[in-house]
Amino acid sequence: MTAPPTLHLLRGAHVFAPEDRGPQDLLFGGGQLLAVGAALAAPPAGWPVEEHDCSGLVAIPGLIDLHTHLSGGGGEGGAHTRVPPVQLTDLSMAGVTTAVGLLGTDTTTRSLEELLATARGLSHFGLTALCYTGGYRVPPRSLLATVREDIALIDRFIAVGEIAISDHRSGQPTFDELMRIAADAHVAGLMTGKAGILHLHLGDGPRGLSMVRRALDETELPTRVFHPTHVNRNRRLWAEAVELGVRGLSVDVTCFPPAPGEPTAAEDVLAWLGAGNPLERLTLSSDGGGCLPEFDADGRLLRMEVGKSSALLATLRELVAGGLALDQALRPLTATPAALLRLGQKGALVAGADADIALLDADLRLHSTIASGRWLVRGGRPLLRGPFEA
Ligand SMILES: [Zn+2]
Repeated sequence: MTAPPTLHLLRGAHVFAPEDRGPQDLLFGGGQLLAVGAALAAPPAGWPVEEHDCSGLVAIPGLIDLHTHLSGGGGEGGAHTRVPPVQLTDLSMAGVTTAVGLLGTDTTTRSLEELLATARGLSHFGLTALCYTGGYRVPPRSLLATVREDIALIDRFIAVGEIAISDHRSGQPTFDELMRIAADAHVAGLMTGKAGILHLHLGDGPRGLSMVRRALDETELPTRVFHPTHVNRNRRLWAEAVELGVRGLSVDVTCFPPAPGEPTAAEDVLAWLGAGNPLERLTLSSDGGGCLPEFDADGRLLRMEVGKSSALLATLRELVAGGLALDQALRPLTATPAALLRLGQKGALVAGADADIALLDADLRLHSTIASGRWLVRGGRPLLRGPFEA
């Protein structure tokens, strides 16, 4: 007989579920959140339990980073610019407990096999690591015959992405080609209960979101299927995204380090709300492990930075400093991506959910990360590192 799982009782944290629940206790064990309430009774004598005084800390759902190049992105300035894979602590020290990995420009030297194996490796430590099938190019890369088979038959694939449009690095998809991919994503989502979305990389090209607008006008595909990302990369594109938000489109804002004089991701979130669009249609992601390149008019790489999941908490702090209540500021990182990706066990601190919890200090800096009930970070220090981390 195996021993009963150790229970963990977090006492007195200010719980944002993401709704503001005030000071509460959280009980978890066996990978699940078992109870959330004020002054929970201790478990029966003899049951292994660890109690933790969390007064002065804020408990939030573990963050969902729905756009991360888990196996590494980049390579657009030559092979020496291929970005190395994301490490366990890149996610755990950022409070991320669910990451969705994808391929970008390079689907030639990068593979879905490698992405899948990287995600499986991160899951070993308690993280939930899922994947998009595809990549920038069309016809999209897939492991099986098409992206539809990948989602329908391979557990970890939940959607298609990031297919590139309006970008010199895209596969220059025609409208019909793009709609066929969106249909595959949608129907595979129906067949499995998975996300079934088409996560679209948007470049700086003047065509912007025109294909998405046309899809909403001309096809039967539900609006929810189309999920454009990097929509805050230039002002023209952002204006289009805000306008399509009014029509019910959900968009993903990338936590880019802003170019001089350009608004930050947080400022764009506040502008989205100011335009009367609901937070329920906006997600935030990091582009972790991806290169954030800048090109000249000939498509030559001028410079690049690497995306990091830590940008998510930095954006959360900026949103709160900008006047947004914490229960609202958390939504694009927790409840909203969970709903969009149909991850019913994620994004909320409620009994029955997965025990994915981040504890923050009063300045909203990371204190601890618990993923599937496992302590990955405690008191600001990693308890677990990947086997090849320094
Ligand atoms: Zn991208």
